[in-house]
Amino acid sequence: MKKIAEREKQLKARLEELMAHLKKIDSELDEPADKDVEERAVEREGDEVLEVMGQVELQEVRVIEAALKRIEDGEYGICVDCGDTISEERLDVLPATPKCQKCAS
Ligand SMILES: [Zn+2]
Repeated sequence: MKKIAEREKQLKARLEELMAHLKKIDSELDEPADKDVEERAVEREGDEVLEVMGQVELQEVRVIEAALKRIEDGEYGICVDCGDTISEERLDVLPATPKCQKCAS
């Protein structure tokens, strides 16, 4: 089994990346709209894209935070639904996943 500390490092790095990006999205959304009408319309569309992106990333942040909590509790790598061990191959691809392949599908 791959060391949990390694997974933790990986998850924390991803979390930091997400937080930095979310902060950037936030500051971009806060930019004052002092341009002409056409530019504002383009910017609004861009804002919507940013908002959707931010929501997707926030969701991922929550999943990662939950995974880090499970590491803390010593429950990492165990399916929250059935209690089975989640396969290493699955954790390699989805280190933050709370469920085994069977329960997730
Ligand atoms: Zn399961």
